Amino acid sequence: MQTQVNSMKELIKEKWNKRPLIISGPCSAESEEQVIETATRLKQTGKVDVLRAGVWKPRTKPGLFEGIGTKGLPWLALAKKITGMPITVEVATAKHVQDALQFEVDILWIGARSTVNPFSIQEIADALKGVDIPVLIKNPINPDLELWSGGIERLQKVGLQHIGMIHRGFSSYGNTEYRNAPMWHLPIEMKRRFPGMPLICDPSHICGSRLLLQEVAQKSIDLDFDGIMMESHIDPDNAWSDAKQQVTPERLAEILDSLVWRQENTDEKEFITALATLREQINQLDDELITLLGQRMKIADKIGVYKKQNNITILQTNRWNDILDRAFKKGENLGLSKEFVTKYFDAVHLESINHQNKVMNS
Ligand code: PEP
Ligand code: MN
Repeated sequence: MQTQVNSMKELIKEKWNKRPLIISGPCSAESEEQVIETATRLKQTGKVDVLRAGVWKPRTKPGLFEGIGTKGLPWLALAKKITGMPITVEVATAKHVQDALQFEVDILWIGARSTVNPFSIQEIADALKGVDIPVLIKNPINPDLELWSGGIERLQKVGLQHIGMIHRGFSSYGNTEYRNAPMWHLPIEMKRRFPGMPLICDPSHICGSRLLLQEVAQKSIDLDFDGIMMESHIDPDNAWSDAKQQVTPERLAEILDSLVWRQENTDEKEFITALATLREQINQLDDELITLLGQRMKIADKIGVYKKQNNITILQTNRWNDILDRAFKKGENLGLSKEFVTKYFDAVHLESINHQNKVMNS
């Protein structure tokens, strides 16, 4: 028995240091059969290092499946026994930690809804004092790197030696392509803050659908992430949680096969990472600018309604001069030329007038 425990410890150590580290399994454990069949089929692919499953599911809204609870842990323990794969579950409270440790869960992960709450993280950290177990911490739901860093620091403070980060995207306004916008520059900043700490990408929760999984996974590899956590389910369409984003173990293997793990030299890799970070920052800002412009036009529409009701002309020269004066002053401080500010505001003004015109003449 003791040798078995020791060899599992060795295996975890080996897995923890393996690059890329691949974690997969269902969003939620649903039944013993589902867990065992998923684990067996994942094992057969020969591509998965660690089996994941949520047994406690923090759902944003009540009424959704909130997890099978502690009774799912023996199913995972059995899956580990059958396949030899280490197991990982999400923990959100001290009680979860105790239960997970009791069932010899090998790696713990902390979910995005816990990372936002320093009380939760502290409770988990306190429960882990003196325990030697790897812990992965997901980014908080909102794009706040201080919360993510603070969470890591709380775990470091209780003496945990093996901490890793999972990037699962951020909740954002005005981004419809993803369930959670990747905002790649943020995990890259975390890599800078915590050099050498494993950083794993979770394309499932970024995408929210099966469609972009491959693309997002590849992007993370190109940005030098250390591994991937992707959800897989034996019957994705009928999964009890996150059905749209899960894939079968066989499809997971196909996706993993299609990924290119590039072997650039370090200089080239650094250059690509730096360039990609800057481009991501620009994309993010452009998305925000477009969203803001859309909001500005909606307000222009409202003003149009008001002007129509009160029979006022669309163009009021004084108001327009005020806007331009303010913009010139502000632009000058920010290093924007008068010529650019004029061109930009002319275009915005024209679009605004067109909007109001439509409203007033409809
Ligand atoms: C999950 O991994 O199933 C999960 C709930 O993820 P997140 O905390 O990223 O939403
Ligand atoms: Mn999920």
